Amino acid sequence: MRLIILGPPGAGKGTQSARISQRLGIPQLSTGDMLRAAVKAGTELGKRVEGIMAAGGLAPDQVVLDIIAARIDEADAKAGFIMDGFPRTIPQADGLDALLATRRLALDKVLELRVDESALIDRITTRAKEAAARGEPVRKDDNPEVLSRRLQAYVKETAPLVEHFAGKGLLQSIDGLQSVETVEDQLTKAIGA
Ligand code: AMP
Repeated sequence: MRLIILGPPGAGKGTQSARISQRLGIPQLSTGDMLRAAVKAGTELGKRVEGIMAAGGLAPDQVVLDIIAARIDEADAKAGFIMDGFPRTIPQADGLDALLATRRLALDKVLELRVDESALIDRITTRAKEAAARGEPVRKDDNPEVLSRRLQAYVKETAPLVEHFAGKGLLQSIDGLQSVETVEDQLTKAIGA
């Protein structure tokens, strides 16, 4: 099954896609994780996106499209995947369409997690505190100032994808403010798993 999970930062995309990934035995393709790994490894790509990510902006479309193109050709993605944090712009969605078309593949569903902005700020602040309490590194971009930039980027660049995928008949929206278990349950039903 080929899925996309869509929603603003802090909506629970990472948590839910990890669960769906386990349940369906398909990889979770998180461009955020891939870019953070590149930054950590100090690669050319990492150097190119480090400042953008720290400021809460978006990496260039072609950069993420190239990463995704390589990733979907890996063996574990042949049977399907769940994309988390990609696509984030209309050009990325169009680029993905082209990548899939040349491989004679199609998306099955796009899952939207709906949450309101004030809930997001709380969630991300809590996520940062919990990570710190577990002794884990806190994401540099999980602070109120950068978060507001990330939300702005979402509203301007990514939110239009909701209509875009609805128009293609692929969208399934779920209230992301329910408990993690309830959201998982509804997502599972939405994909018929
Ligand atoms: P995430 O882990 O999905 O919240 O992504 C963290 C950061 O990585 C974002 O704030 C962006 O700077 C960058 N990023 C991740 N995915 C994308 C994407 N599809 N397009 C552009 N930038 C991205």
